[in-house]
Amino acid sequence: MSEPYKSAIPFLDLRAQYRALREEISSAVNAVLASQKFILGEQGEALEREIAACCDAKHAVGLANGTDALTIALASCGVGAGDEVIVPAFTFVATGTAVVRLGARPVFADIDSGTFNLLPQEIEKRRTARTKAVIPVHLYGLPAEMYAIGEIAARHRLVVIEDNAQAIGARYHGARTGSFGVAAGISFYPTKNLGAYGDAGMAVTNSDELAAKMRRLRDHGQSGKYVSSEPGWNSRLDEIQAAVLRVKLRYLEEWNTARRERAKQYDELLSGLSGIQLPTAPPHSEHVYHLYTIRVKGSAGRRDRVQQRLAAMGISTGVYYPVPPPFQPVFASHGHRTGDFPGAETAAAEVLSLPIFAEISARQVEKVAEALHAALGETV
Ligand SMILES: *Cc1c(COP(=O)(O)O)cnc(C)c1O
Repeated sequence: MSEPYKSAIPFLDLRAQYRALREEISSAVNAVLASQKFILGEQGEALEREIAACCDAKHAVGLANGTDALTIALASCGVGAGDEVIVPAFTFVATGTAVVRLGARPVFADIDSGTFNLLPQEIEKRRTARTKAVIPVHLYGLPAEMYAIGEIAARHRLVVIEDNAQAIGARYHGARTGSFGVAAGISFYPTKNLGAYGDAGMAVTNSDELAAKMRRLRDHGQSGKYVSSEPGWNSRLDEIQAAVLRVKLRYLEEWNTARRERAKQYDELLSGLSGIQLPTAPPHSEHVYHLYTIRVKGSAGRRDRVQQRLAAMGISTGVYYPVPPPFQPVFASHGHRTGDFPGAETAAAEVLSLPIFAEISARQVEKVAEALHAALGETV
């Protein structure tokens, strides 16, 4: 099958990044193959030190994926059966299912319509005597309001675990995301700003005790060789992924800067266009644009029609997320109804993410903007 459009613009092009790094990656992977050490070795330990530094944290614990990072961070804080954990009503479903794994209950809380992040005052509203923790998500790469969230959490003795899956490298009041909570979970899923060549994740923390606990939990609860005091998980980072990630980490800052430049270009080309709302970042936050997400306003289904028009013009876009977690079948027993989360529900109907990645060219961004102008003009 041939490609339908010679100048089609992909939503994300990982091959462009690979072409630039092919030799460095090959030699890093070959070194692991030569060592024949695949699980919990030098590469993973070195990456843990480097990621801790990159998140302004004392410790990082390599894990199998970002979902496990949230689950194991919560478990290390003692969250378990019968506890409640407040999570945003608009995020990837894993923020909620990571809680369910522990027999705990995610309690969904609405988001701010400007930033798409957890509304701090919702924590007060959704909190009960059983609430143990809250998981703010730095959605699309924009830090959540960690000062307000931290203050409310401290007042009610709630543990804060950051979901930093989409925002590695972002800053809030000058400090990196991942350094505000008791711990934070990071995902290195291939499409994230720092992506592995398979599944991988990490949890960061400033606590010696939590770091030690997470190291036990990721490895069958072993406190010494062949001594297991609790079941734990098998959730270890492998050496090949760690070696790939160490190469890529050296470019993260540069890539995030490139994403910000392209985002700025979109902002300029799209400003003043009626019927859409552009992403915003408060002055104290540095966005890393994992996704550049606009809102398409107008009659019901307009977002989908605009997306189809763009696709017909060869522009790939994404919808993150069409169904908010509280309305996913897995949470049907929670009994939520339309209107329970107005912020999340409106976002789900309106969001549209435009192509953004470090290698996208200025010309491609212009083309996307032109196509969007046309698509909006043709759609009501
Ligand atoms: C990707 C992602 C996760 C899960 O990470 P995995 O590595 O895929 O398990 C969790 N939360 C958010 C917000 C994510 O984007």
